[in-house]
Amino acid sequence: MRFDLITIFPEFFVGPFDHGILRRARETGLVEVNVQDLRVFTKDRHRTVDDRPFGGGEGMVLKPEPLFEAVESLLGSRVGKASQPKAANLKTGIVLMSAAGELFHQETARRYAQLERIIFICGRYEGVDERVAEHLATEEISIGDFVLSGGELPAMLVIDAVTRLLPGALGNEASSQNESFSAAAHSESKAHHPAGHASQQSQVTRHGLLDFPHYTRPAEYRGWAVPEVLIGGNHAEVAKWRRSAAIEKTRRNRPDLLPEE
Ligand code: SAH
Repeated sequence: MRFDLITIFPEFFVGPFDHGILRRARETGLVEVNVQDLRVFTKDRHRTVDDRPFGGGEGMVLKPEPLFEAVESLLGSRVGKASQPKAANLKTGIVLMSAAGELFHQETARRYAQLERIIFICGRYEGVDERVAEHLATEEISIGDFVLSGGELPAMLVIDAVTRLLPGALGNEASSQNESFSAAAHSESKAHHPAGHASQQSQVTRHGLLDFPHYTRPAEYRGWAVPEVLIGGNHAEVAKWRRSAAIEKTRRNRPDLLPEE
């Protein structure tokens, strides 16, 4: 998997890819990360990437030309003009980071993990000329209902979520199937439950449940004991407890993920 990041702040990415799973994934060649300075694709002396908005108003907008040219240079091919439809390479995603985009979910990460390459366009200022969303990007993605000052952190976050889903990225393969928002955790634990319970839970949304609570030693800390069942070593009982604790935690923190009762 190759990730390209188009940004006006290339130094932003020094550091975040050098730790943990991402670092290992790069070292083993599972992922390649390429940072592209947008200013390389400017033609004037001041290396201008932004301009004032048509129609007036606050702030500056990233111009389309450097962004189109940056993507085309990375792809090695032209993306098109108004008269031609967007070139569709199904294995390459061109993702515009945008507070006004579609929400990024674990499901989106799973879909991205199937691609061979993702080119991220990191916005700044008031955002990006809309023709980039319309005619260059294959998707416009938001990481949540809040506004950040640039697309760099959002792009990094997407890369992290996608990388850990690539086969071989995690030490323990099971761990990406049994965590928050994973549908597999849901179907796997269904097996431990009587039919009635399972059918209620099979309505759990496509976003799945939150992860169950984890504990490690000491078994008692400041008077707070680890749930007894986890220490007992009865695997069926542990699975059952984890299942109901996950539901309980989801109900408490993210009731929106559960089917309406
Ligand atoms: N005027 C825009 C916000 C621009 S913020 C609006 O109101 O929607 C500047 C840049 O930060 C955006 O172009 C985008 O690339 C990035 N950004 C900000 N919030 C984001 C979010 N929630 N998800 C993804 N990217 C975001």
